[in-house]
Amino acid sequence: MALRIGIDIDGVLADFRAAFRAAARQCLGRAFEAAEDPKTSKAMAQADVRKVWDWVEKKPNWWMGLRPYEPDQIAKLYSLTRSAGWEVFFLTNRPASGGDTAQFQSQSWIEQHGFYMPSVLTVPGSRGDIANGLRLDLVIDDQMLNCVEVVSASTAKAILMLRSHDQALSNHAINRGIGVVSNLVEAITVLERLREELPSRRGRLMRLTDWFNPSPERERLPDNPRAARPLPPLVQD
Ligand SMILES: [Mg+2]
Repeated sequence: MALRIGIDIDGVLADFRAAFRAAARQCLGRAFEAAEDPKTSKAMAQADVRKVWDWVEKKPNWWMGLRPYEPDQIAKLYSLTRSAGWEVFFLTNRPASGGDTAQFQSQSWIEQHGFYMPSVLTVPGSRGDIANGLRLDLVIDDQMLNCVEVVSASTAKAILMLRSHDQALSNHAINRGIGVVSNLVEAITVLERLREELPSRRGRLMRLTDWFNPSPERERLPDNPRAARPLPPLVQD
């Protein structure tokens, strides 16, 4: 059985904060500090937050314009996922912008950065419920609340993507059994270590060994599955 991994998009792959700050600047005519998260800042009234979202809602394909934090790592994650035979689900609760659906924009954006045919799930509800429903093994998310929901409501492990140096939050997460990383490079290092170390573990983890040992003779589609390739002959009766 393939390892099943849930990866949040905003704050993990995409710099949502910077994009929202830029939107707020254009919409409200007011600058925000880099450290300030306008979405949650007390300096920003809820009515202004609503105005910015209304502005985003009319912007065609606004989600396509977000900057990836570490663009090279998205392709690396793809490569690792393919070679390890994992199943990855990208999770988001992005509201609609103009243009295509938030789901389609997210799929297109992730693929443009090197992860072909990404599975994007728009999750309006609890991340714990989705982790449980999908039987995820591991979830990477930048929100502590989501990580807590995941470990509380499912058997999945959670890794908090903490890009700021918040030692108190880091300690809090670790005390709750939640792993902490500060960027995608570290997260991918953790995933690589899992792949390498789990086969040598004993006990309960032994059952997970086959996640990390895809059969060497496994026939794989090309690295870019969209590359031209003749379809196999159809099965006849
Ligand atoms: Mg997030």
